[in-house]
Amino acid sequence: MSRDPDAAEHEDAAEHPGDLGEILRARERDVLARLRSNAESARPPSLDEEIGRLTRMDALQQQQMALHARRRLELQLAQIRGALARVDEGTFGACALCGAAITSGRLELVPETPFCVPCQERLE
Ligand SMILES: [Zn+2]
Repeated sequence: MSRDPDAAEHEDAAEHPGDLGEILRARERDVLARLRSNAESARPPSLDEEIGRLTRMDALQQQQMALHARRRLELQLAQIRGALARVDEGTFGACALCGAAITSGRLELVPETPFCVPCQERLE
């Protein structure tokens, strides 16, 4: 991820709220589509299926990975919806923790992020 400290800090990322709404809604659709295809692989492997022991362990491991991916997608979906609400409120682009303007470079990469880079790093 780009962490260029010279990125335009004061550029107004909320300059085109219509475009932002479009971008966020497109990401929302994308995440929802991924959640739908994820639901299939997150299903526990069927006991009726005649598969060997190793294959079953593979299937269980794949299920765990799918569940992990699902949690990330659900978090991302919640963030996208929160960002859409902030676009409506006119508070989009301000960090939810410290209130500082989130850099436009970061918003281009992850428009749904509620936090600026320093706050995100403190959270991780
Ligand atoms: Zn912050």
